[in-house]
Amino acid sequence: KAFDDCGFAPQLMNAIAKQGYEKPTSIQCQALPIVLSGTDIIGIAKTGSGKTAAFVLPMVVHIMDQPELAKEEGPIGVICAPTRELAHQIYLECKKFSKSYGIRVSAVYGGMSKLEQFKELKAGCEIVVATPGRLIDMLKMKALTMLRATYLVLDEADRMFDLGFEPQIRSIVGQIRPDRQTLLFSATMPRKVEKLAREILSDPVRVTV
Ligand code: AMP
Repeated sequence: KAFDDCGFAPQLMNAIAKQGYEKPTSIQCQALPIVLSGTDIIGIAKTGSGKTAAFVLPMVVHIMDQPELAKEEGPIGVICAPTRELAHQIYLECKKFSKSYGIRVSAVYGGMSKLEQFKELKAGCEIVVATPGRLIDMLKMKALTMLRATYLVLDEADRMFDLGFEPQIRSIVGQIRPDRQTLLFSATMPRKVEKLAREILSDPVRVTV
C-alpha cells in the first residue's frame, strides 16, 4: 500500500514527502480509505502507530472539499485529546499538512491565557485541537460556534474517560451537528467507551493495529 492509492492532491503528497513519510503505517493503511470515504471509524491504536496522520490527512481533504472556506463560522475539524501535551503534538501534525492550504489551526488547552485563546478563536479557524475542559470554557465564552463542524475526532478516548472528561465530551458532541463524520481512537475499549461509541458514531468500521 502507498499514499498514492489514497488519491491525495499533489500538494498534499508533497507535504507528506516533506515529512519523510515514505509509506503508510499499518493504521494508516487500514484507516485512510475508510475515513476518506466519509465513514465513521473506531481505531484501536496507541501513540507511535501513526494514528495522528490517519485522521489529520483525511481532515485536510474534508476541509478542502468544503465550499466557502473563508467565512468565520468556527472550525470544520474538531479534535479532542486528553492532555495538553498530546493536543500540542496533534496541533503540530495538523500544521504540517494544512499550512500550504492556508487552513488555520487553533490549539485550545489549559496553561495558556484564556483571553489570548478567545481572541484567536474569534479571528476564525478551520481546525481546533483541544482538551475537553478548555474547549467547554471557550464554547461558554462564545469564542467559537460549532455550526460548521462536520469532522470530529476523539483521540485517546480511554484516557479522556480515565481523566473524568466523559461529561465534557458528551457536551461537546451534543453541540456538533449529527450529520458529521466521527472518528474515535483509543488504545483500549473499556465498556464505557464502547457505550459512547455506540451512541455517537453511525455504522462505524473498526480497525485494530
Ligand atoms: P503518532 O502515533 O501519530 O503519534 O505518530 C508517531 C510518529 O510517527 C510521529 O513522529 C509521526 O510523525 C511519525 N509518522 C507518522 N506516520 C508516518 C509514516 N507514514 N512514515 C513515517 N513516520 C510516520
